[in-house]
Amino acid sequence: MPSSHPSEPERQPALPATAAPAPKVDQGMVVHALDASDSAILITDARRRICYVNEGFTRMFGYSPAEVLGRTPDEVLLGRHSDPHLPQAIRDALALHGHTRIETLVYGRNGQPRWVSMVVNQTSRALSGTQSITVMNDITLTKMHEVLQKKVLEGMVNEIALSELMKLVCREVERIAPEVTATILAVDEKGFVHPLAAPSMPSYIAQAIEGAPIGPSAGSCGTAAWRGEPVLVTDIETDPLWAGYRAVFAPTGLKACWSSPIKNHQGQVVGTFAFYFQDHRVPDALHHRLVEVCLHLCALALEREAARARIHQLAYFDVLTGLPNRAMFRQSAERALDLLAREGGSAALLYIDLDRFKRVNDNQGHAAGDALLCEVAARLMRSVRPRDLSGRLSGDEFVLLLTGCSAEQAVQTAQRVLEALGEPVQIDGQTHQPQASIGIALFPTDGPDIDALLRHGDQAMYQAKSDSAHSLRLFNPEMNQRTQARAALELALRQALQLGQLGLHYQPQIRSDAAQTLYGVEALMRWRHPEWGMVPPDRFIPVAEDAGLIRPMTDWLVDEVCQQLVRWRQARLPVPRVALNLSAKSFHEPDFSARLEARLREHGLQPADLMLEITESVMMDTRSITAANIQDLHARGFYLSLDDFGTGYSSLSYLHRLPIQELKLDKSFVQDLSTSQAARTLTLSVMSIARSLSIEVVAEGVETRDQQSWLQSQGGPVLQGYLFSRPLPAPELEQWLKQRNEVGLS
Ligand code: C2E
Ligand code: CA
Ligand code: CA
Repeated sequence: MPSSHPSEPERQPALPATAAPAPKVDQGMVVHALDASDSAILITDARRRICYVNEGFTRMFGYSPAEVLGRTPDEVLLGRHSDPHLPQAIRDALALHGHTRIETLVYGRNGQPRWVSMVVNQTSRALSGTQSITVMNDITLTKMHEVLQKKVLEGMVNEIALSELMKLVCREVERIAPEVTATILAVDEKGFVHPLAAPSMPSYIAQAIEGAPIGPSAGSCGTAAWRGEPVLVTDIETDPLWAGYRAVFAPTGLKACWSSPIKNHQGQVVGTFAFYFQDHRVPDALHHRLVEVCLHLCALALEREAARARIHQLAYFDVLTGLPNRAMFRQSAERALDLLAREGGSAALLYIDLDRFKRVNDNQGHAAGDALLCEVAARLMRSVRPRDLSGRLSGDEFVLLLTGCSAEQAVQTAQRVLEALGEPVQIDGQTHQPQASIGIALFPTDGPDIDALLRHGDQAMYQAKSDSAHSLRLFNPEMNQRTQARAALELALRQALQLGQLGLHYQPQIRSDAAQTLYGVEALMRWRHPEWGMVPPDRFIPVAEDAGLIRPMTDWLVDEVCQQLVRWRQARLPVPRVALNLSAKSFHEPDFSARLEARLREHGLQPADLMLEITESVMMDTRSITAANIQDLHARGFYLSLDDFGTGYSSLSYLHRLPIQELKLDKSFVQDLSTSQAARTLTLSVMSIARSLSIEVVAEGVETRDQQSWLQSQGGPVLQGYLFSRPLPAPELEQWLKQRNEVGLS
C-alpha cells in the first residue's frame, strides 16, 4: 500500500512512545471526549450501517442518534447537490488504502447544505464487510467565502450591474442558510435608503421603502444605518423601532430582522445587509460568520459603484462650474448636429472668451477667479433655452450651441449674453464688470461638423477680441490669419523633417520602490526652428497630423529611439525601455503594426523594448482599422500605454477590455492632488482598479515632494516629472543616470 498516496490523511500521531505500559482507557472518558469534539464523528458496522454518532454530529447536522442509527451514511447525509459518486469513491479508497480524505457537500436534517472535510478510516475488515470511522469538520464558511468572493469579484470585473451583484450575494446566503431572507439596501449621502436586492421578498416592499429616511427608529435597517451598528429586532410586530414599517411587512409573515450597516473604508455607512426570519429568533454563529463575509464584499461593490459615478462626473463635467466639459459638449453637439443635418435645420455656435480674466486671477487670487467663473457660468445658463447646449472648454472659454437658430437670432442672443455678463458682480468686496468676446459660427454655412464650428467660432472670437473688447463677431472666411500662420508652420515643419532639425529629449520614469529603480524613459520630440526658436510639440504635432506628415515623422522617431536604445545597451546603461508617443493618425495606416515591428527588428530590438503611448481617443476610435492595429500590436508583443488618463473619456469601465499594460495619470490630476479631493479620489480609484487588472500606473507631472510622498503612500505608482528631471538630451540623461548610480540610487 503506497503510503504516500495524495489522498492519504496525515496519520494521527500514535500514543507517545514511552517505555511505560499504556494506561487502561476509561470507556466513559472516551465517549465524553468524543462528544465534546467539534467534529462530527460516526461509526459504521460491517453492513455500513451507522452504529454510533457523537454529540458533535447532532450539533452539526441536527439529527438525534435515534434518527440515524441503523441507516447508511449516504441515506442520511447526501442531498440535492452532493457528489453522486461519493459512496463508491469512499469504498474504493478504503479497499485500496484503508483510509481517505475528501472535501464534499452534505446536508443536515433541515436540508441545510454543509461543506465538510471528511476523513474516513477503516477500523477492521471482516468477511461480511468493513467497519469504518468517519470524522467530519465543517468547512462551509471557508468554501462559502471562496465561492462568494470569486463570484462577486468576477461580477465586478465583468461590469455586472450592482443590483445583480447584490442579488447574487442574497441568493448565495439563502442557499447556505435557507431559513434566512436576505436583503441589501444602499444608503445615500443624504441618508435615504434605496433597495438594491431582496430576491425573496415581494417587490412592493422595495417600492414602499424606496427613498425612506434613516433615523433613530426606522425599522431594523434604517436604525442600523443611523446608529452605525447592527440592530436586532426579534419581534417585528411589537418592537417600537418598527412602528412605521410593520404594516408594509405584515403580509410577508416575517417575525424577526437583524440588520448590519455596510461601511466604506472611511467608516461611512453606505448600505445595510439584513437577515429576516420566519420566527422570533436570534442569529446563530453561522449567520454571524455569513454577515461578516458578505459585509466586506458588499462594501467593496458599493464603493466601486460610488467611484464609478464620481469618475463619470469628473470625466464629463467641469468640477468648478458643473457645466459639461469639452469632451461631453463635443459628444452632445455632434449628436444634435447629426439630427439637424437630417432635418435640414440650422444652428449657431457661440464661442465665448472672458476678457482680461488673467488679471482677476493674478490680482485677487485663484479663489476669486473661480468665483467669477462660476458666476459667468450661471449667467450663461440663464441666457439660453433649456434645449441649447453649453460647455466650458478650458480656463475662461465657454461655448453655447443654439439649435434651430438663424444668424439674426444668434446675434441677438450673443448681445443678450454680453449684457448679462457685463452686470456688475461683487467678489471679495471688489466690484467686477466681467467682459467677454464672442465669436459666432453658423451651421451648416460655416462648417459641417462640431470641430469645424469650434475652430471657426474660435477664429471669430479672436477677431472680436482684437477689434474691441466686449464685442461679438460672425465668422467669415477671410478670418484666416491664424490659418495662414499655420500654413507657414506646416512648410517649416516639412523642411525641418528633411533637414534633420528635429530632436528627442528623454525624461526618466522612476519606480516607487526604496531603491527608486529606473522604470523607463519617455522620448519627447523637440524642434528648434532657426528663427522662431523652440516650437513646442503641442503646436507642431497637430500641424503634422493635418498635413499628413505623421508617417515620415513617426518613422524618424522610431529609428531615432531604436538607435539610442541600442547605444545605451552597448554602453551598459540600464534603460529598461523607452516610451514613445504615437499619433492617432498612425492607427489609420493599414500596415502600421507590421512596419513598426519590422523597423524595430532591423535594429535588433524586441517589441517589449518599447512602451507605446496612445491617447484615449485612439482607444475609443470605432474605426475597424484602428481596432485592428491595436489588437495587432498587442499580438506582436508590444506594450501599450494609455496616455493622459483623466482628460478624455476616462471611463474605468472599458479598462479591462483594452489590451493595455500601463496607464498614465494625467499631470493635471497630479498637480491638483494637494487642493482637490476629487483629484485624490480619482487617483485612488484609478490605482486600485489598475492594480486589480495588473496595469502599471505612471503618474506624470510630479513636481513636488508632497505629491511624491502622497503617491508613494497610496499605492506607489511609477513617477515622472520635473521633481526628478526635466526631459533631457541623451548625453545629459546619461550624466543624470551616472550621477544617480554614484550616489547609489539605482
Ligand atoms: P505628453 O505625452 O503628456 O508628455 C508629457 C508632457 O509633460 C511633456 O511636455 C513633458 O515635458 C511635460 N512634463 C513632464 N514632467 C512635467 C512636470 O513635472 N510638470 C509639467 N508641468 N510638465 C511636465 P512636452 O514635451 O511639451 O510634450 C507635450 C505633448 O506633445 C506630449 O504630451 C505629447 O502628447 C506630444 N508629443 C511629444 N513628443 C511627441 C512625439 O514624439 N510624437 C507624438 N505623436 N506626440 C508627441
Ligand atoms: Ca506621453
Ligand atoms: Ca501624458
